[in-house]
Amino acid sequence: MHTDSASPQQGMSVVTLGTAGGPIWTSSVSENHRSGIATAVVVGGNVYLVDCGSGVGQRMVDAGLRFTDLRGIFITHLHSDHTIDLNSLMVMGGLTFRGSSAGPVPILGPGQRGFLPPTSPHIAEELEAVFPDQPTPGTAQMVDLLLRAHATDLNDRRRDTLAPAMPELFLGRDITIPCHVGFHPNDNNHPDMEPFEIFDDGHVRVSAILVQHRPVAPAFAFRFDSEYGSVVISGDTAASGNLVRLAKGADLLLHEAIDLDEMQRIYGRAGQADRKASMEHHRKAHTPPEEAGALAAAAGVRTLALHHLVPANASKEVWLRAAETFTGELLIPQDLQVIDVRSAEEMSRAELTGRGLS
Ligand SMILES: [Zn+2]
Ligand SMILES: [Zn+2]
Repeated sequence: MHTDSASPQQGMSVVTLGTAGGPIWTSSVSENHRSGIATAVVVGGNVYLVDCGSGVGQRMVDAGLRFTDLRGIFITHLHSDHTIDLNSLMVMGGLTFRGSSAGPVPILGPGQRGFLPPTSPHIAEELEAVFPDQPTPGTAQMVDLLLRAHATDLNDRRRDTLAPAMPELFLGRDITIPCHVGFHPNDNNHPDMEPFEIFDDGHVRVSAILVQHRPVAPAFAFRFDSEYGSVVISGDTAASGNLVRLAKGADLLLHEAIDLDEMQRIYGRAGQADRKASMEHHRKAHTPPEEAGALAAAAGVRTLALHHLVPANASKEVWLRAAETFTGELLIPQDLQVIDVRSAEEMSRAELTGRGLS
């Protein structure tokens, strides 16, 4: 699969805006810096964003992508490493829509959780909810709350300099899970199911499926199908049969990956309850590279790219363990790589290796 660092305009491409997982900053001075998780799927110049991790607006500028080409934003789940810069994207990126007829931009993501998750067994007492009057807002409510927090600024700029009305430019929408699958955030967060369509604008059709990222629920993976090809983005998940179903025969699967050995070393140094609870979360809610490889093989995808890497600075050798279980093309992209989905069949593995990406 052809990869490059130029801005994509034709066909279908993926731009890895940010490839780090987790709510953590690392030094951006480093040449191999990975920004917070965010991925652009570009179809015929139209931009569809999946997740808005730290630095997403800056990375769009770095990639030469225009905010006014945004046709949809898709949030896999409401962990902050996937949403933290949605706010800056709307409030700062929205200003670039001045004088443009583009928009509104739909923002699709999980609805209200509705129930708090159970408290960790590593602590004896029940923990009080933060904001107990509204403890589990969904995507539509989050978009509304984020914009409301900036009402002073939005009104100043609108009345003073005729800036766009951001609440009309960005529309949060909760993804409705089909009732018949029996989803419940605590009791049945990952039922076996078929993908269901959530978006179709004539350029791209987007399907969703529930994945296993307990206790976070709902957590989605997304599939983008266009006339040029198909791309699946796993979101955060442990090994998921639903993900395999969604990714069946896809040209490109971007799957998350975690180095559990390194995380054990990091968390193993201290014995506090919160560290133990965090390690347990990583084991039951994320995927080691060799398991990601096995899932890609089961789905029969042509190319597997690992992203949402935890920890982001682990050596490339760790991630290449996916090749033990997957014999197709394997990419470990840095930030700002363009993966040309359309020309996948034209490129040989040898050329990819020559570019230092596999
Ligand atoms: Zn994450
Ligand atoms: Zn997560």
